[in-house]
Amino acid sequence: MDFFKWVNLFFIIFNCFLPIFSNSSSTSNDNLPINKFLDLAKNPQVFDWMVDIRRKIHEKPELAYEEFETSELIRAKLDELGIPYKHPVAVTGVIGYIGTGLPPFVALRADMDALLMQELVEWEHKSKVPGKMHACGHDAHVAMLLGAAKILKGLEKELPGTVVLVFQPAEEGAGGAKKVVDAGVLENVSAIFGLHVNHNLRLGEVASRSGPLFAGSGFFEAIISGKGGHAAIPQHSIDPILAASNVIVSLQHIVSREADPLDSQVVTVAKFQGGGAFNVIPDSVTIGGTFRVFSDKSLKQLRSRIEQVITGQAAVHRCNATVSFLEEEMGLSPPTINNGGLHGYFQSIAGSVLGVDKVKDMQPVMGSEDFAFYQQALPGYIFLLGMENPSVERLHLPHSPYFKINEDALPYGAALHAALAARYLVEFHQEVSVVEGKYHDEL
Ligand SMILES: [Zn+2]
Ligand SMILES: [Zn+2]
Repeated sequence: MDFFKWVNLFFIIFNCFLPIFSNSSSTSNDNLPINKFLDLAKNPQVFDWMVDIRRKIHEKPELAYEEFETSELIRAKLDELGIPYKHPVAVTGVIGYIGTGLPPFVALRADMDALLMQELVEWEHKSKVPGKMHACGHDAHVAMLLGAAKILKGLEKELPGTVVLVFQPAEEGAGGAKKVVDAGVLENVSAIFGLHVNHNLRLGEVASRSGPLFAGSGFFEAIISGKGGHAAIPQHSIDPILAASNVIVSLQHIVSREADPLDSQVVTVAKFQGGGAFNVIPDSVTIGGTFRVFSDKSLKQLRSRIEQVITGQAAVHRCNATVSFLEEEMGLSPPTINNGGLHGYFQSIAGSVLGVDKVKDMQPVMGSEDFAFYQQALPGYIFLLGMENPSVERLHLPHSPYFKINEDALPYGAALHAALAARYLVEFHQEVSVVEGKYHDEL
């Protein structure tokens, strides 16, 4: 046994004599030193391990509900750490457990899916699957949650409750979070935290806000049908191009004339397909787009008005219109609304881990996140994790084929996840009463 092994043995014996938490008087920072979590996460045993996981997942991107190899890798890593889990949940999802198996339960979420696009970044660990890419950072999210799991497992005896690790499929518009909630695996969970990497927030910084953070979103597609014919004799046709053009103009009036100017909304028509010749009026035109809002009420209202405007305006031009909201394929995602009570908690924990000057406020953004489905079921809080290091390079937007992860951000995400969950259990474990025998099936 060399010197370092003797040192390790000393710490193992020493740790055996540390008090085990049983009440709030024993919840001092000494045993859950969250201000040291970042150093723990930067230790090569955690950092290199996370980088390796992230690169493996990056090389094998998998789309919504097809994250089979990603899920297998996650389970192998949980096995390696001795962390029990449930699988499959929501097709490919994995739910891991660290702690006592008793309340309080606090959840941490990572999404696992990639996008249907070709990676254009040339590097050693480029996607090996043509036409698929981790261009939103979900590979990094999985690695960071596993990093947090590794830290928390090392402190498991100090946790006065249970951390629930949620590895979720299908964030990119296919409602994976909803399926996880519907599976009932979060029923006893008191709060859930999530993060998303961000390309233009500085490395080491985080940003979020109380209340609405990401927009709710929906998609629509309409087929506007008329009667095709010769372009030179329009009186014998019913022109769907003109009808669709007026539909699009009228759709733009919904937000400008009907919505409260203080209630931010977007309607964008991003698709217009019709006709193929200079002198032929086509039979039909297909248009499609997306809409974004910050409340469930506005989401419903806008959805209903989009349908009315398309069918009504098409009728003005003697056309028929069928409207589909593609909810099966693309999902209707509610707005992501951060729990007000968890905002102060997040700021204090992130301040302890990173320094108070690294915790920023931000304005809501029109992108959407299916973390919203968790927040409909239980108190939830999501924040952005900075990756930008301008002295190295400027990073591209998510969903760009040039999107890159700054892997130096991984320890920050892992440390924050671990700290948010660990301190939550310490601070809230006396507020939740334990019901004998009720929680055995959690593990
Ligand atoms: Zn995305
Ligand atoms: Zn994403």
